[in-house]
Amino acid sequence: MILDLPTASSVERAGGGGHGVASAAPSPSPTSARHPADTCRFCGGALHDFVDLGMSPLCESFLAADQVDAMEPFYPLNVMVCGTCFLAQVKEYVSPEHIFREYAYFSAYSEAWLAHARAYVDMAIKRFDLSRDGRVVELASNDGYLLQYFVKQGYPVLGIDPAENVAKAAEARGVPTLTRFFNQQTARELAGQGVLADLIIGNNVLAQVPDLNDFLAGVPILLKPRGIATFEFPHLLRLIEENQFDTIYHEHFWYFSLMAAERMLAAHGLRVFDVEELWSHGGSLRLFVCHADNAAQPTLPAVGELVAREHQAGLRDLATYAAFAEKVKETKRRLLEFLIGAKRAGKSVAGYGAPGKGNTLLNYCGVRTDFLDYTVDRNPYKHGRFLPGTHIPVLPPERIAETRPDYLLILPWNLRDEVMKQMAFIRGWGGQFVVPIPEVRVYP
Ligand SMILES: [Zn+2]
Repeated sequence: MILDLPTASSVERAGGGGHGVASAAPSPSPTSARHPADTCRFCGGALHDFVDLGMSPLCESFLAADQVDAMEPFYPLNVMVCGTCFLAQVKEYVSPEHIFREYAYFSAYSEAWLAHARAYVDMAIKRFDLSRDGRVVELASNDGYLLQYFVKQGYPVLGIDPAENVAKAAEARGVPTLTRFFNQQTARELAGQGVLADLIIGNNVLAQVPDLNDFLAGVPILLKPRGIATFEFPHLLRLIEENQFDTIYHEHFWYFSLMAAERMLAAHGLRVFDVEELWSHGGSLRLFVCHADNAAQPTLPAVGELVAREHQAGLRDLATYAAFAEKVKETKRRLLEFLIGAKRAGKSVAGYGAPGKGNTLLNYCGVRTDFLDYTVDRNPYKHGRFLPGTHIPVLPPERIAETRPDYLLILPWNLRDEVMKQMAFIRGWGGQFVVPIPEVRVYP
């Protein structure tokens, strides 16, 4: 069963990195809308257990003070894996309209993400020897955070993004933007007008597309015969190996391994000819993709090597996924054990950060103000608000020095080193850092 028909999509929020990309999701096709919940929405294969985090509120629905006594919607957060194509996917998904209703994060706000985008542009121009009249199209182009760097170097670009507010911001940056969902239909219309791409970019968009087949079918239509497409997404292997279960959100419908992505792209006449591992989002992949018959781009060894690593890690074995579920439960028990011990010993615990991943973790573990007095965040939007579900208050970082907690639980564990450096002063009163993932660890 689908909770609500997917009719729109909009904005992605990063797990800790703090960028967002409006996703170009296709409108629902009748087949996807009728898909039974226990079969793969990509290939129709049977779904098996992976990780069930129970019922959880949407992880970016921070509450204002006058909302904490009101009813709050919780949705199932249950990720299954297909026994045929090994694509991990939420069993039931929440309509993107519900998810993204209020949340609009402009990606150009994040410095780290802009640097990532700029480096990508330099790499792409050099590596693909893009000629100045080569057209670059970004799917889910958001506010033009990336395409602006192509514009600066004189390349014709086109952003495709359904969110009108971000598209306006992109236009202001000189990035022409089509406010549409990307799918087969959009690709056909563009191709019909003679708009074809030398380079197609899809960064952190695939996970948020409800109908992957309709979306991917548009790529070969829009891509020139010798064109290149690149896709970035968090890597399922890293999620499993590093126990990053808290990066599972309602906003992410799919969790990709390279082998599942290869299969999915091959079904649409596309071939992965190279792959890079990136630091972003706890470990992402960047796939380099071309038409399957493009002889100019032979498949490089990196692809086979990484698939072999995935096989070695057991990603073709359903037992690996089932074992992960057990590891997640044990992580919860360990975190609770630590918190119970700390509270029994009369210690105080505060949180650092209010990222989406923190909300998945705290809700799954049932950690409320009974364990965590409050959390702090640098984003002023969150000050005075409460974490969804757990209702833990979010305060400015200065509060730490005022209350001198014994432990500081770092929720954005991907920024662990940065946070420990920035908050090193807590050691002055004997404060210690605690990192929950991959397993509870105390840093004196
Ligand atoms: Zn499947």
